Amino acid sequence: VFNTADGIAVRPVEEEPAGRVRVRVSSVSICGSDLWLIDHGPSPFVVGHEFAGHLDDGTLVAVYPLGRCGSCPQCAAGNPNRCPDVFRTTLGLGAHGGMRDEAWVDPRALVPLPEGLDPAAAALVEPVAVGVHALDRAGLADGRRILVMGAGPLGLTVAALARYAGHDVTIVARHPFQRAAADRLGLGLSPTGEYDVVFDAAGSVSALAHAAESLAPGGTLVLLGMYPPDGVHYPAQTLMAKEATAISATAYRVTDTHDDFRTAAHHLRDHPELAATLITHRYPLDDAATAFATARDRDRHAVKVVVHPG
Ligand SMILES: [Zn+2]
Ligand SMILES: [Zn+2]
Repeated sequence: VFNTADGIAVRPVEEEPAGRVRVRVSSVSICGSDLWLIDHGPSPFVVGHEFAGHLDDGTLVAVYPLGRCGSCPQCAAGNPNRCPDVFRTTLGLGAHGGMRDEAWVDPRALVPLPEGLDPAAAALVEPVAVGVHALDRAGLADGRRILVMGAGPLGLTVAALARYAGHDVTIVARHPFQRAAADRLGLGLSPTGEYDVVFDAAGSVSALAHAAESLAPGGTLVLLGMYPPDGVHYPAQTLMAKEATAISATAYRVTDTHDDFRTAAHHLRDHPELAATLITHRYPLDDAATAFATARDRDRHAVKVVVHPG
């Protein structure tokens, strides 16, 4: 699937598979960043960075899609998500992505997935890993009061993972279909009082203001939204008056000793309602154009749209 001058189209792709292994792709999910990228014009690369599938020996794998040089100080310190190379060779951005029948992948990017994980939901390992990393960054002590601003895929994921970890979680959801999804995940929907940690997964001026106002003194604000490139009004005074800590989280960490993909895969396997709630639409590969149109159309009430090539 390519973003062409004529829109989303399914085209044959020629590829030199030297040193690569074949992944027969079972599921690919559409990300907000895919829609953003498509708006920036045609690309010579197959779209999609959230995907999983089977190796020739039947092993179910997810694919780590980000670039990482492997030798810079951040890579050496176990933070490949901070590598300066991160976007240069990212699959779907600077190299062919995963929305195709067969992807030829660098073996170092393969993450074997646990038994019992549904291949039709395994595309979500990548986006759920973003939520895993966000919770890691927040460094939560037990039994926190947590508020999540925004009930898109990331907001719902962070909130659900925090609830699985035993925290008291409330989410601010704008649309009725998002409230229904949050309710199905057992999340509170009516904010009251102050919160130890607020995740802003909305990325708007109003959400950021609400997040700062909702923080308890000494609390932590975690910036997760897709903020406008020109910046947003930042509630510095409110945060300073509370001596709040503001941090951000980007992507995930997959290293020899720390694997957010594996943690995400276990959450998806152990809590099947997570994928059942997040995935609202499924399409075969030939209907990829409809899949992208659905992901874009608020009236279709899409949370995650998944394409199934196989
Ligand atoms: Zn994504
Ligand atoms: Zn690096």
